[in-house]
Amino acid sequence: MQTPPADSRSSLADLLQAARAARDASSLTEGRQLAERAWALALQSGSEDQRAEAGHLLCLFNYRLGALAALLDIGDEVLGALAAPARRATRIDLLRWMTLAGCETGRFDRAMQHANEACTLAHDIGDQRQLALSLTALGACFERMGDPWQAERLMDDALRVAHEVGDPFAQLVTLNNLCAVCTGAFYVLRGGDEPAEAIAALRRALVHAREAHSLLHQFDDPFFAVFVEGNLGEVLLHLGNTQEARTLLDGALQRGLEHGYEAQVWRIRCSICELMLAQGQASEAHGALNGLLHDMAGADPRSTLIRVHHALYRASRDLGLIEEALAHFEQHDRLERRRATSQLKAQSQLFVTRVEAEQARVQAERARREAQLERSRAAGFRADAQRDQLTGLGNRRHLDERMPLLLHAARSQGLPLTVALIDLDHFKQINDRFGHAVGDKVLVEMAHQLRENTRSSDVLARIGGEEFLVVFADMPEAQAVEVCQRLRARVAAHDWATLAPGLQVTLSVGIAHAPPYDIATLFDQADRAMYRAKQGGRNRVAVA
Ligand code: GH3
Ligand code: MG
Ligand code: MG
Repeated sequence: MQTPPADSRSSLADLLQAARAARDASSLTEGRQLAERAWALALQSGSEDQRAEAGHLLCLFNYRLGALAALLDIGDEVLGALAAPARRATRIDLLRWMTLAGCETGRFDRAMQHANEACTLAHDIGDQRQLALSLTALGACFERMGDPWQAERLMDDALRVAHEVGDPFAQLVTLNNLCAVCTGAFYVLRGGDEPAEAIAALRRALVHAREAHSLLHQFDDPFFAVFVEGNLGEVLLHLGNTQEARTLLDGALQRGLEHGYEAQVWRIRCSICELMLAQGQASEAHGALNGLLHDMAGADPRSTLIRVHHALYRASRDLGLIEEALAHFEQHDRLERRRATSQLKAQSQLFVTRVEAEQARVQAERARREAQLERSRAAGFRADAQRDQLTGLGNRRHLDERMPLLLHAARSQGLPLTVALIDLDHFKQINDRFGHAVGDKVLVEMAHQLRENTRSSDVLARIGGEEFLVVFADMPEAQAVEVCQRLRARVAAHDWATLAPGLQVTLSVGIAHAPPYDIATLFDQADRAMYRAKQGGRNRVAVA
């Protein structure tokens, strides 16, 4: 093989780096151009790694831009570059995107094929996160083929797997899809004979949307924000909570426009128009919907188009424009019928896949059990790895694992959380004067005092030689100060002489509280407060 010129190699590396930066900044259009050039160059002269990365990025940008036909065109070639076993996780990503692209563009046979390969691969490599995401993609196939019930079952399975591995990304993606499935079921059921069933679907959508929304803060990603807020706004609007819906939709629209998420923007604009309709502003809605229809011309986001015609039918009817109302009603009907026909065709063509979906569920269930067993085995080791040998309290690693969860829980429910950093006073002198063994006994007794003076729900850890940390979940600062003052007084009054004649122990405490729900800030503030307690003469409690 010919050696490529050095400059093309370095420019390929530069292009890839720029494309990565564009991805991180969510600059999709620019990113796609960069990735296109990188992919072309990588095919000529890139290494295997570079080809794989360029292809993956190009597909990601197309996917996020909603350029689904382009994604399918290029996808097969990129799959070829992702054949090596080491790239299986990346391959699953691409298979999932192609699944959704296949569904959206009506190529259900390809979609099912990609979804099944993704599930099998995820299962083979024992990747629970990818398994959850792949099951969700498979569920999306069924929903697009007109079977929201199978879709919901698959996605419920996916959500269980995602919860068990504790993967917020898989949870968010699955919740988003579940929300869309339930909302879709509502659109199909509304106006039919079973209004209670329609509302029940909407309520399930709301639960999923709210949970997705509570996860958002963990991702600094406008794409997810637009998606989740758009979903939640859409559900709230149909439930009649127009005020909250409006705030969410306006925010999502602005962000979507900023980042050029065209398909999302159309969806959100449609929701806003429906909101106007619900508030009796038929004339404004009518104008805005016609503008939307004009902007969407030529594009094929069928589900939004169907909604737009339905909304225009209602707006025209409310305005007494009967002929126009009828025209939109017919358009809506035509599109619905076309959708139903293509779904029926797909179902008859692919009837065997229902059985395959059940197999995927069984396979997922088995994988889930195996993973559960593995986790409970690992949990035994982890419990040891997270315990301080001397005092039996949690150690630093324990805290590192618990703290993000506690903060997340507090933040999502808007609850207070207080941390106290506790440091024994002049501990070095105690060691020097009474010996290291007595020092150890002091630490053990301190752990005992800590347990005695806190609630079982508080998290205790020994994070350094003679330093402890207490996390008081759901406790305002003033109350935590009281607890610490009591602890301080009891330790100072404790009869330490039973350990060694003449021994006395005191401690200093630094307290900080959330919000802000940020670990580094909390620890830093507690540390400073502690420093002030020491400066102030020790044996005292200081607040950040
Ligand atoms: P201050 O009041 O400013 O906190 O003074 P200090 O002497 O407590 O602080 P310093 O950080 O200088 O000393 C901490 C001492 O704790 C030093 C170290 O020998 C001792 N130490 C750390 N881990 C252990 C342990 O596991 N057992 C014992 N016995 N001593 C320990
Ligand atoms: Mg210290
Ligand atoms: Mg100390």
